[in-house]
Amino acid sequence: MVTFTAIKDLQAHLESIRKKNQSIGFVPTMGALHEGHIALVKRCLTEHNACVVSIFVNPTQFNNPEDLEKYPRTPARDARMLEEAGCHALFMPPVEEMYPFLRQAQNPGQALPADQDPDIEKEKWKKVNLGMLDKVMEGAHRPGHFKGVIQVVSKLFDIVKPDRAYFGQKDYQQLAVIREMARQLRYPVEIVACPTVREPDGLAMSSRNVRLKPRERAVAPKIAQVLFKVKELAKSAHDISELKKFAVEELNKEKLFTLEYFEIADARSLLPAKDLSVPAVACVALKLGAVRLIDNVLL
Ligand code: AMP
Repeated sequence: MVTFTAIKDLQAHLESIRKKNQSIGFVPTMGALHEGHIALVKRCLTEHNACVVSIFVNPTQFNNPEDLEKYPRTPARDARMLEEAGCHALFMPPVEEMYPFLRQAQNPGQALPADQDPDIEKEKWKKVNLGMLDKVMEGAHRPGHFKGVIQVVSKLFDIVKPDRAYFGQKDYQQLAVIREMARQLRYPVEIVACPTVREPDGLAMSSRNVRLKPRERAVAPKIAQVLFKVKELAKSAHDISELKKFAVEELNKEKLFTLEYFEIADARSLLPAKDLSVPAVACVALKLGAVRLIDNVLL
């Protein structure tokens, strides 16, 4: 595996791959890798000779500076895991490489206002209209988060120019937002959705899980248990408000949870589902101690 920190070096390497007529698969991550990330890499390797992984803790998608500061960073371990998985190229740019004009000290966790950004011509992500996709659920609770996501993913797509890019269903709304961004900006990339990888007790794998204290980790599987119970109930009980009431009550029974939202959304529009005649997704976000966790299940 070759590791790059500079865009031009990565691009020179990718150019040599394309000259050999090989396709390129891409897995963007924020590092602190776990088996969920590695599943994306393995899927990528079944479809491409060249698998590029990026590790970049993107400051513009964190609406909470403390979350950004505390985000786990384990680069040496990540590199070992990727090497073992068979990844070809790792891209780990420093913040200045991705955002030459981001004055992080004055503006933590935020992009420069558009009119101050000399790179504005390249900022095509600003033209993307996400409609309601970034207004509901995560969008409502993490203002600006999805703007940061499409900003960094479009920059990464421009740099890597992948044939396919792999994303986890764990971040269901992010997947929908990225699909829409790729569609509107006409990126010639296929977005591949990969299933959520879970711990044996059901907890969705997440880089943030390592920040859970033992007693928090002990109750965390309840999130997935409630989601799976809702999925089971949805087979016979079709009243969405009943299902939501059940889930909210169950989650609120756990004193360590501070529920942000539980929603049953139309799996396409992500607007609250009216009934279960269309594919729907049950999504949850909650704080467990200092750690914010999300999970979802398709109904
Ligand atoms: P992150 O590093 O958390 O930004 O995640 C990078 C990619 O890995 C995203 O596409 C996530 O949806 C995906 N991912 C994170 N956790 C999981 C998981 N438990 N199962 C499957 N994919 C995941």
